[in-house]
Amino acid sequence: MSNLEPITITALEHTISRCDKCSLSKSRNRTVPGEGDYNAQVMVVGEAPGSNEDKTGRPFAGRAGNLLNELLSSVGIKRSQIYITNMLKCRPPSNRDPQQTEIDSCEPYLALQISLIQPSVIITLGRFSFSNFFPGIPLSKARGIVREWNGIKILPVYHPAAALYNPGLKPKLLQDFQKITSLININESSASEQSQMADATQLSLFDGHFE
Ligand code: SF4
Repeated sequence: MSNLEPITITALEHTISRCDKCSLSKSRNRTVPGEGDYNAQVMVVGEAPGSNEDKTGRPFAGRAGNLLNELLSSVGIKRSQIYITNMLKCRPPSNRDPQQTEIDSCEPYLALQISLIQPSVIITLGRFSFSNFFPGIPLSKARGIVREWNGIKILPVYHPAAALYNPGLKPKLLQDFQKITSLININESSASEQSQMADATQLSLFDGHFE
């Protein structure tokens, strides 16, 4: 364990910005590591960056992001109160589905983001994100049902982008987001947040984990 070194979310995001562990590094314009409150109670995990995200380096920067903001607002949560990221940190060409090799290459970054931020709730958007935590369960059966994963509550919902193409899904998204209100206290004291921050910045990880 002599090769342990401290890491922070900021350092992790910098590591992601230089990543070339899968072929998406060749076609991306910008990496999209994630953004938001590093002490958030709620983490949102989508699938992969799209065109707007690839241009800006920000997750959920386009129309799907506007709908996500609306869904969060419907339960009284500001985007700045949560941390938003994706399974993949680089855009698949033409927004195709993520490939398993890409998911496997990128997954350690998400695992570290979860370890550092220590959310109490993770909202998974879409089937790829949900299957990272609970493989083999169809999202159509799982959506809106809270499950426990390593002490974290997982709330699976449809991806907002799906509701842009199929407006019939929007009422289901609004309904599922209502579950969040019973899972968190969005006015929790900052003392707890400070404690989480201290824990996160002291976390030590294997040197060279990302090489
Ligand atoms: S998708 Fe993930 S693993 Fe692939 S190059 Fe981007 S950051 Fe690295």
